[in-house]
This record gives sequence, structure tokens and C-alpha cells, in this order.
Amino acid sequence: MIDKSLFLEKKVAFHTLGCKLNFSETSTIARALTEEGFIKVKYDEFADVYLINTCSVTEIADKKCRQAIKKAIRQNPNAFVVVTGCFAQLKPLTIAEMEGVDLVLGSNEKFKMADYLGDLQKKASGEVHAGKIMTNKEFFPSYSMGDRTRTFLKVQDGCDYFCSYCTIPLARGKSRNADIKTTIELAKKAASEGAQEIILTGVNIGDFGKSTNETFFQLVQELDKVEEIKRFRISSIEPNLLSDEIIEYVARSSKFMPHFHIPLQSGSNKVLALMKRKYNRELFAHRVDKIKSLIPHAFIGVDVIVGVRGETSAHFNEALEFIHGLDISQLHVFTYSERPNTKALTIEHVVPIPERKLRSQILHQVSDKKTRHFYNQFVGQTASVLLEGSENEGMMNGFSENYLKVKVPFDASLKNTIQKVKLKSFISDEMVFDVELMD
Ligand code: SF4
Repeated sequence: MIDKSLFLEKKVAFHTLGCKLNFSETSTIARALTEEGFIKVKYDEFADVYLINTCSVTEIADKKCRQAIKKAIRQNPNAFVVVTGCFAQLKPLTIAEMEGVDLVLGSNEKFKMADYLGDLQKKASGEVHAGKIMTNKEFFPSYSMGDRTRTFLKVQDGCDYFCSYCTIPLARGKSRNADIKTTIELAKKAASEGAQEIILTGVNIGDFGKSTNETFFQLVQELDKVEEIKRFRISSIEPNLLSDEIIEYVARSSKFMPHFHIPLQSGSNKVLALMKRKYNRELFAHRVDKIKSLIPHAFIGVDVIVGVRGETSAHFNEALEFIHGLDISQLHVFTYSERPNTKALTIEHVVPIPERKLRSQILHQVSDKKTRHFYNQFVGQTASVLLEGSENEGMMNGFSENYLKVKVPFDASLKNTIQKVKLKSFISDEMVFDVELMD
């Protein structure tokens, strides 16, 4: 039996690596520990317990995890160090052997954190609790609050796709979700705590409903009816699952923002097939055309991976030409790194690291050009922006409906409010709009 009175007034600090999903989950874990009596402090402060929620999408993510562990131990050599998240699920024993680590929790166990903390005494080596994730059917809803103005609402977890380069299904298990009713209740709860804008988040959100006999489109329609929430955004959604009916609905909705994030990953059909993606580039182009024909001012962010095994120079050039022709607003460029236990490792053609970096640079330049072009279309127009709280050199930032970043002089009373602005001038080197507040 755990004596939870030990937790009273103990300081706990959190460090999150990786995606929005991880941020929403850390936020939920933090709320649960605060309810047990812990006091949340910043990661660069002294704490009794440090918790690192890891990611394992690339090699860099692994490295960042190691650095975060070292930072915690430097801060307080006697602190109880917990590591959880995707990297912990995939490599629990490796992490358990790292100096200073006391507890390693898998992707499921992290939501019952308080039950595993024990007496908070340092251990000779890390204690591991990481069950079999592939057979796990449990879903733990989460949302971020307090850390950012916008709230990330986790609506789905896991993935059934098994793209050849990806380890996420091994770390997060099969696709699963809470039902629509529960998800709506959670959205309302976030609204009652001040959420103005909710970003629907998951590993493969278009797959929502598979485990509850519902669909993502139904979820979108039901959320749209929640009066308490002013704005929704759909985060990354697979192109094959972003159906025309969803695009048409977003075009009609006043709450779902004209903002899409679609992973393309490669603009070459040969490479898409090697990646085991479930669409070809023609379908992708159709989605972009559909969005732009109905919502010309929509922001479209696109993920691309460069240097994957099998991507020859000819494939890359073909992809580059395709991407040039897409009416999109921004690219999120990822450089491929080999991940253990993935099918891609059997593909023979290996792209040398300097070539991977070069391809990434080329696509970053393409992205900058596209973003500048997108922003420039809106100079002189008006927009509604949700202003974020933090102060940066006397200014505060916000985002318009179609995800234009703006800055205004800092005013604490404007935090978390939606304001009408005139987009005065585009500051190209900062990729931000200077704006004028309107009444
Ligand atoms: S869709 Fe593919 S890349 Fe995305 S999480 Fe699933 S397996 Fe990984």
C-alpha cells in the first residue's frame, strides 16, 4: 500500500519531448499529481521529482531524452527521476540503466503515475513498469491546460497503419479512442477552465471511432455544436482520411478554423509505396485543390520526410517538382533517421547523411518561399486573432483563423482573448504580421 501522504508539498517538475499529444498527456499527469498533493515547479528549478515524457520519432529525440535526464540530476542529485513516453516504452531497460533514473513507466502506466512512485527513495537502478502495448485497449483522454493558450485535446491514440519507417505503433499500440459523448464532456471541461481554442490531437485522428463504432466526421459535427468553445482546429490528419465531406463541413463551419495539417511525407509515388503510405500523390493534390477551391484563404501545413531509404536523387527531384506545384502554406521538413525494428531497414538504397541534410535545406527554402507568399496575400485585410499570454520583448503573439502569426504590444488583459485586428505589414524575416487592434 502506497503512503500518499509522502507526496504532500513535494515539488515535481515536468519536461516534455515531441508532439502535441505528449504535451496534452503531460498536462493531464501534472493535474493528477497536483491532486495528490504535489506542487508543480519549472523544470529548471529544484524539485523532489523530475518527470520526463519522452519521444522516439528520431535519433535526436533519443539524445534529447538523455540530456533531460542529466539536467534533472544536475539540479538535484537526490531527486527521484521518472522517465516515461514512447522512448521509455520502446527501450525501458536501456533507460533503467541510465545513471540517476529511478522509475521507467510505459505508455499506459504513465497515467497511473502516483501508484508507481512508491516512497520516492532513489534506487540503485531504475524500476521498470512497461506492459505489452500492442494488446492494450485502454484509452486515457487528456488535454493540455495552463501551459499554452490553446488547448490540445487528445481524441485518439495509437495507429494501425505500420508505415515502414515509423516506430509509433510499437510505442503507442493500436488505434483507440473514447466515445464521442466522453470526448465532448472533456471539451466542455476544458472550456469551463478557460479554453477558447481546442486543437484535436491524436496519433492518427482520422481513424477516430474505430474502437467505438463512430467516425471522425461525426465527432467534428458534434463538437461544432458545443457552444462553450469558440474555435477548433484539426491537427495532422492523414490525406486518405481527410474526406471531401470533412473539408466541405469545415468550409461551412464558423468554429472549425480554415487550417489543415496534412502529412505528405513524399511527393514521389515510388517512395510513398516504399513507405507503405495509404495514398498516392494524386489523391494528395486532390485534397489540396478541394480545400483551396472551397476555402481559398485556408492555411495548409504539410509534413515531408527527406532522405528515407529508397529515395534516389531522381525520386527527390520528382517530389520537389510536385511540391512546388502545390498551393500550400508551409512545409514541416523531417530528416529521416533509421529506427530499430522498422521495415524500412530492409530497403537497400541508403541516402548518405550529407545528402539528407542538403535535401532538408532545399525543402526549407521552398517552405519559406511558400509561407511568405501565403502571408503576403493578406496585407491590409482584417482578421480575428486569439492572443497568447507570454511576453516577449514587450510584445505578445496571436494567431488568426487561418493561422497567420501576429504580434501586438503586450497587454496582460488581452491574454486568451479573441481580438479583431488589421494586418498592417508583414515582417518577412520574423514571419509575423504587425497589426492594429480594432474595436
Ligand atoms: S500513420 Fe504511419 S507515420 Fe503516422 S503514426 Fe501511423 S504508422 Fe506512424
